[in-house]
Amino acid sequence: MSLIVQKFGGSSVADAESIMRVARRIVATRESGHDVVVAVSAMGDTTDELVDLAHQITDVPDPRELDMLLTTGERISMALLAMAIKSLGYEARSYTGSQAGMMTTAQHGAARIVDVSPDRIREALDDGAIAIVAGFQGFNRDSKDITTLGRGGSDTTAVALAAALDAEVCEIYTDVDGVFTADPRIVPKAHKVDRVTFEEMLELAAAGAKVLHIRAVEYARRHGVTIHVRSSFADTEGTFVIGDRGENMEEPIITGVAGDLSEAKITVIGVPDIPGKAAEIFTIVAGTGANIDMIVQNVSAQATALTDISFTLSKTDGEKVLKALRVAQEKVGFTDIAFDDNIGKLSVVGGGMRTNAGVSAQLFTALFEAGINMEMISTSEIRISVITRGEDLTRAMQVVHAAFGLDGDADAVVYAGTGR
Ligand code: ASP
Ligand code: MG
Repeated sequence: MSLIVQKFGGSSVADAESIMRVARRIVATRESGHDVVVAVSAMGDTTDELVDLAHQITDVPDPRELDMLLTTGERISMALLAMAIKSLGYEARSYTGSQAGMMTTAQHGAARIVDVSPDRIREALDDGAIAIVAGFQGFNRDSKDITTLGRGGSDTTAVALAAALDAEVCEIYTDVDGVFTADPRIVPKAHKVDRVTFEEMLELAAAGAKVLHIRAVEYARRHGVTIHVRSSFADTEGTFVIGDRGENMEEPIITGVAGDLSEAKITVIGVPDIPGKAAEIFTIVAGTGANIDMIVQNVSAQATALTDISFTLSKTDGEKVLKALRVAQEKVGFTDIAFDDNIGKLSVVGGGMRTNAGVSAQLFTALFEAGINMEMISTSEIRISVITRGEDLTRAMQVVHAAFGLDGDADAVVYAGTGR
């Protein structure tokens, strides 16, 4: 019998009624002749609520205890889901991450899976049961402690189970019909794509598309797991995330448009244009642990031999990086720093860019015609990203989506939830 791993996110199991609906869906898969293993997220916004609760107790919750707290969210949903399946007359057993053999590194809040030994899951399947596994959590052998994989980590749980159990497919159930050419909440004319490659999915996720956890995509690519992203509210086929499109299928020039409002821009003004200064600045930034995204250095003004260096980073890292740079201002010798947290990042992604000239020109023309200014530009082989004003991002996404001929005939259906 072939095995299917199914993952249900928080919005799919938000209340008792939804849990029953998901249970019927799982049972239908079982009835169609498959073994089923399920990874489940915490109900609705439970994880956020637990984080809030911890912060009502203390500003800096102990990482070990925070993981203890957050993993309870998935224990609630897994137990209720197992009960729901049993009430439909099928055998089901729930397992915590550690019971399911999810072995991770010790790092609380951001543990990585190092090994999966799903012996108990196999036993359950051998007994004819449906196995339900708590998403987003694991266990470290050395510290003997419970860990979490980071926010959104249930996708990674599902993919890791699919790899370890050699599943036919890993189905990720969500509140939209699949992967779209843009977030349908922002671009109503977005349409579902049937297939997307791992490479494109990684670029889209990095560009701010919230469909799949980026680590889940990396894991799937490394282990050759086919992912099927589909709606838990409808029966239609969703989007398959695959290795490549094969020889006969032409790659679309643009597969998707993504937007991201989570970044800020720091400009270091009046930097002496001599070797070593950029190295100094970015060593200071790296020392704070912040990840930077785009970097732009201006041509230096001839009269002064001073230049400006701008870079983008996560808004949440802004404060600490500013502080570290100010401390080093005299030593590095720059004039000033500017911080701008009202920026938007627009990205277009598509494997076909590799073999098609003029994609940048088309993108820039669309933005120009809409009167939207670009402040920074960066490219990879299959992606172009530009920084705009924050308030221009929605319109920018809509005009670019139209300019590349991605607009569908009808508005997309959004079933529930907030995008996760
Ligand atoms: N419940 C966790 C979170 O909200 C894990 C997940 O949903 O994937 O981050
Ligand atoms: Mg969640």
